[in-house]
Amino acid sequence: MDQVRAPVRAPGPGELLVRVLACGVCRTDLHVAEGDLPVHRAGVVPGHEVVGEVVALGAGVGEWFARGDRVGIAWLRHTCGTCKFCRRGAENLCPESRYTGWDADGGYAEYTTVPVDYAHPLPRGYADAELAPLLCAGIIGYRALQRAALPLGGRLGIYGFGGSAHLAAQVALARGAEVHVMTRDAKSRELARELGVASVQGADDPPPVALDAAILFAPVGDLVLPALAALDRGGVLAVAGIHLTDIPVLNYQRHLFQEREIRSVTANTRADAREFLAFAAEHHLDVTVHPYPLAGADRALTDLAHGKFAGAAVLIP
Ligand SMILES: [Zn+2]
Ligand SMILES: [Zn+2]
Repeated sequence: MDQVRAPVRAPGPGELLVRVLACGVCRTDLHVAEGDLPVHRAGVVPGHEVVGEVVALGAGVGEWFARGDRVGIAWLRHTCGTCKFCRRGAENLCPESRYTGWDADGGYAEYTTVPVDYAHPLPRGYADAELAPLLCAGIIGYRALQRAALPLGGRLGIYGFGGSAHLAAQVALARGAEVHVMTRDAKSRELARELGVASVQGADDPPPVALDAAILFAPVGDLVLPALAALDRGGVLAVAGIHLTDIPVLNYQRHLFQEREIRSVTANTRADAREFLAFAAEHHLDVTVHPYPLAGADRALTDLAHGKFAGAAVLIP
């Protein structure tokens, strides 16, 4: 990324201009940078886990935010509001949906903008850098947990243990789940143990018990097979990532029969964001962050690609 500084512009109608205080580095930024996802806007400034301070209000933003307020900017930044998906509360599936740091400039910058309807008030009790990963890693992990339909007190398997997984695990644990983590990375295994999970295994090792639900956070299609094979009867595997390498051929008896299911997770709704941020306000989450300066964005992405840290990288302008 050569250009991380966009010129500061006045907020348009319905927008807030925000001074960036912290911006999380998400695996999706890597997929945008490396071309795993189609280009939506050439030269877009990435970053969709933005914690900022409102510095100017565009026309018609109403009374929800004032100058000086702390605000969160997440991935979803536009939906049509009228299609069949929007009308039934599935705005994450809106064909007109647009995204921060993909369709519009995001938070790898000193200033950015957000449509006020997609700006989030933030929970108290967290530092700016800790709040940033909540805005995508946290929200997506929360949606993935809902999609995995874990029964109360059930056994959850987590495949891959990065920024999103370490937050979803804490939500599941707070709800009384028994959590089993499968990951290749030693630092992440250590973090999982510290958070109090029931067991930790290698990336494709079988967990010690049959799982009621599982979430695949690693963008590795090969892991779909061991994750499905680890499910108990009626279990659900949710795939949390926006990008996954090819899934090998499934065997119906071994991977799907007994009403096991595989489900994708596509972005999130604003309701997911509100619910998760309310949860984070009520139950303090331990957010493991690795700060980088704004000029270190490329290094942060490279370190993420190579699994150099446990938890989440955050840029501090
Ligand atoms: Zn729509
Ligand atoms: Zn993200």
